[in-house]
Amino acid sequence: MNYHIVSLGCPKNLVDSEIMMNRLATHGYSRVREARAADVIIVNTCAFIRAAKEESIDTVLELARHKEDGECKLLVVTGCLSQRYRAELPKEMPEVDVWIGTDEFPRIPEILNRSLKGEQLQAFTEQRIDYEQVLERTLATPKHWAYLKISEGCNHTCKFCIIPAIRGKFRSRSMESILEEARGLAACGVKELVLIAQDITDYGRDHYRRRALGELLERLSEIEGIEWLRIMYAYPTSVDQSLIDAMARNPKICKYLDIPLQHAAGNVLRAMSRPGDSAFYGELIGRFRAAVPEIAIRTTFIVGYPGETQADFEHLMSFMEQTRFDRVGVFTYSREEDTPAALLPGQVPDREKKKRFRAAYRLQQKISHEVNASRVGRELRVLVDEPIPGSEQPPSGLAGPDAEAGIGRGVLKFPIGARYLGRTEWDAPEIDGTVFISGEATPGTFCTVRITGAHPYDLVGGVVTGAPALS
Ligand code: SF4
Repeated sequence: MNYHIVSLGCPKNLVDSEIMMNRLATHGYSRVREARAADVIIVNTCAFIRAAKEESIDTVLELARHKEDGECKLLVVTGCLSQRYRAELPKEMPEVDVWIGTDEFPRIPEILNRSLKGEQLQAFTEQRIDYEQVLERTLATPKHWAYLKISEGCNHTCKFCIIPAIRGKFRSRSMESILEEARGLAACGVKELVLIAQDITDYGRDHYRRRALGELLERLSEIEGIEWLRIMYAYPTSVDQSLIDAMARNPKICKYLDIPLQHAAGNVLRAMSRPGDSAFYGELIGRFRAAVPEIAIRTTFIVGYPGETQADFEHLMSFMEQTRFDRVGVFTYSREEDTPAALLPGQVPDREKKKRFRAAYRLQQKISHEVNASRVGRELRVLVDEPIPGSEQPPSGLAGPDAEAGIGRGVLKFPIGARYLGRTEWDAPEIDGTVFISGEATPGTFCTVRITGAHPYDLVGGVVTGAPALS
C-alpha cells in the first residue's frame, strides 16, 4: 500500500507530518511523490488564517480528483483545519473519507487499516497528544537540519488567534525527552536544530516552574555534531536574562531572534490582548543588541487590526524605521470566526489594510536591503543547503517566493556563476534569505564565503578557497 502526503502550514505541522510518515513506514506503507499513483492521499492542513484555510480546502479538492483519474482509495484530512471544523466539514466534504484531529494523527496506520476495510472514520479525541514520548520521525527536511518541537499549545489569549482553541493549553516536553530526540537527530547527521513551539520562551514554566530555554539550549549545545541551535517564536514578556546570556556566550546558539511583536502602538496591542508597547519592545531589543552584537532580529506585524487608526499605523512605521529589524513579516489582519477580534468594532476596510500592508512592506524591503548591503565585503560562515539545479548551465529561473508576505520576489534571478544555496546564522531555513554561492562547496557542510553582492532578501558571494570554515 502506498501513500502521498501534502503538508501545509507551519513547521509545527511539518513535524506532525514527519511523525505520520515514520508511523506509516513502520507499518508497511511506502511514500510516493506522484499523488495520482497513491492508494492513500493525506493532506495535513492549516487553519491559522483565511488564506491558509482556503489553500487547505483547495488542495483537498484538487487531490480528490485522483479518486476518479488515479489510484486513490482513501482521501485523508489531518491537521488544524480538520480539528477546527470537525463538526462541519465531514458533512460538507463527502469526497473526504477520513478526518483525523491534531491529537490523533500518531494513530494513522491503525486508522487507515480500519478505513481500508470500509469503516468511515472521524478520529478525534479530547485527550491531548503526549509529545513527551519521543515520536520517531522521517525527516522531510535536508538531512543536515531539522525542526525540534519543544512544547505544544499556548496559554496566551491574543484576540486574533485561534491556535489555543485548536492546539490546547501550553505544555512543555521534559529536557530529557528533547535531549534524547536531539541526540538521535545528531547521530543521523543533523547539524542545525531549529527549536519550535507556539510560545518558545515560556519553555519549562509548567514542567520546571521556571523558564528554562537558556538551560535547554546550553545542554543541547553539548551534543556532539550539533553546530547551530536556532529558536523560533519568542513571546516578548517571557524572554528572560538567561536566554540573552546563553545566546551571548555560546557560539552554537545562532545570533538570531524571531520575536513576533504584532504591533507597536500600545492601544492596538491592548486591543489584541498582548502586552507591551513600542518603548518596552525597544528596550528589550536594545538589551539583546547590547549583549549579542550583530544579532539578527525578525518579527511579524499585523496591519489593519480592528480599531487601528492612521496614527497607530504611523506609530508602527516609525517604530520599524527606528528599530531597523533585520526582517519583518507583514500580514493584513484576517477576521477569523470564533476569535474575539472578529467581533470588535472598527474593522478596517480591505482596501485600507492593503494600502498599509504595501507601505510597511516597502519600508522593510528598503531596510532589509540596507542591512544586507552592509555585509558586502565580509567573510561569513555559511551552511551550504543544496546545489542550484542546472547551475552548470547558464542561470535561469526566479528565486523562491517570499514566504512571509506572499509576494513573489519577482525580479531576482540566480546570479551568474552561483552554484549553491546556503545560509548564514542570521537566516532561518525556509523563512529568511539565502546566500547564492559560487565556487566549490559541499551541501550539508560549512564554508567561508566572501560576500560580493546584496539584494533585499539574499546575499551573493564566493567560497574563499582554502580558508578554514569560520566558527
Ligand atoms: S502567543 Fe501566538 S499562538 Fe499564542 S495566542 Fe498569541 S498569536 Fe496565538
